Amino acid sequence: ATQYLDRIAAHQHLNAFITVDREKSLAQAAAADAARAAGDTRPLLGVPFAHKDIFCAEGWKTSCGSKMLDNFIAPYSSNVVERCDAAGLVTLGRTNMDEFAMGSSNENSFYGAVKNPWDLTAVPGGSSGGSAAAVAARLVPMATGTDTGGSIRQPAAFCGITGIKPTYGTVSRFGMIAYASSLDQGGAMAQTAEDCAILLNVMAGFDERDSTSLQQASEDYTRDLNQSLAGLKIGLPREYFADGLADDVRAAIDAAVAEFKKLGAIIVDVSLPNTKMAIPAYYVIAPAEASTNLSRFDGVRYGHRAADYNGLNDMYEKTRAEGFGDEVKRRILTGAYVLSHGYYDAYYLQAQKIRRMIANDFQAAFKECDVLFSPVSPSTAWNLGEKTADPVAMYLEDIYTLGVNLAGLPAMSVPVGFGSNGRPVGMQIIGNYAGESRMLGMAHQYQ
Ligand code: GLN
Repeated sequence: ATQYLDRIAAHQHLNAFITVDREKSLAQAAAADAARAAGDTRPLLGVPFAHKDIFCAEGWKTSCGSKMLDNFIAPYSSNVVERCDAAGLVTLGRTNMDEFAMGSSNENSFYGAVKNPWDLTAVPGGSSGGSAAAVAARLVPMATGTDTGGSIRQPAAFCGITGIKPTYGTVSRFGMIAYASSLDQGGAMAQTAEDCAILLNVMAGFDERDSTSLQQASEDYTRDLNQSLAGLKIGLPREYFADGLADDVRAAIDAAVAEFKKLGAIIVDVSLPNTKMAIPAYYVIAPAEASTNLSRFDGVRYGHRAADYNGLNDMYEKTRAEGFGDEVKRRILTGAYVLSHGYYDAYYLQAQKIRRMIANDFQAAFKECDVLFSPVSPSTAWNLGEKTADPVAMYLEDIYTLGVNLAGLPAMSVPVGFGSNGRPVGMQIIGNYAGESRMLGMAHQYQ
């Protein structure tokens, strides 16, 4: 742990961490050492790692990348933190992220942008950009992330690491600060699929404090790591390889697909006809849920409160005006609008119908194949500042990741090489519900 803490200190220019607490980490590491000396053999005992700053951890500042929670010390731990603590993992710190997980570049953080370790002029992706950069720069071997519309997969792709968002309901959302509750899902980020499987074993499991937690028997996500790929059917969704996909990304994916063929997999052509509608549907549903989830930040219960105000309404207004950044305000306004009387049917209800059609598209595709392969993002990491003036341009970059969250499916990002600018390319593996072990096994065989 000391070595990693020193490495984190030497890489502060990446801005990957919001909080590092040497004393707390070293105490946890000492306890792990003592347990190991006493014969404890838990696989992750004493392994240094980091949490995205969205998981409440008792006694730790939990900011969610926002000024609103800059002064918030969590009074309890999320289920994910409890589970990681119980596994003997050593928390070295809390990673930077887009404010309330809204963003695709990590530039929306109150604590400033994270830099991509491969190229300091590039974004690391978002919203789990701090976790991705920290793993890529070897500041921690693994980290937690969350994925509402791509926030584990896209930063993993941009930083050349592996990340998995499991089936909705696999990892408890208890104590994970809510963005869009019907889409939010925690997951694992690490160098390899094998490490992701080992971390997911710790993070996943039924939790009665999350009403959408899946009541399923706990599983060992490492079980398929050494399975042969012979005869497995990989579907390539036509719409994910259409206009807008950069040539260098496509070339890296094609090369990876050729490797999987050599490993015995069979490639089939499939169609997900409603792919384009994922962006408008997501950017109605996610803000709608965010506008209600974020109403709790009112200056009364916890977090920031404006210093000067005239009565209760003024206090609410000033607190929220000061505490939230521009992108968060944009989402709250959009969300309140699409939910409002007179517009609800036209926007929100319509988006819910599209969501069902997208989920149906995936089920039709899975009749013809076992998993789907696609790019994670249409291009490699863009330059810091390149898309900050145009939010819609940023939203369009999420085209390949959003459908998975709308359908609740598991998906992961696997590094498959580099683009013409030397920045990493990630390939997405999408599985059917509860398909994580098989997907991790495929990635492991390739790696
Ligand atoms: N880029 C998407 C958004 O801004 C997804 C973010 C996420 O998965 N948390 O909403």
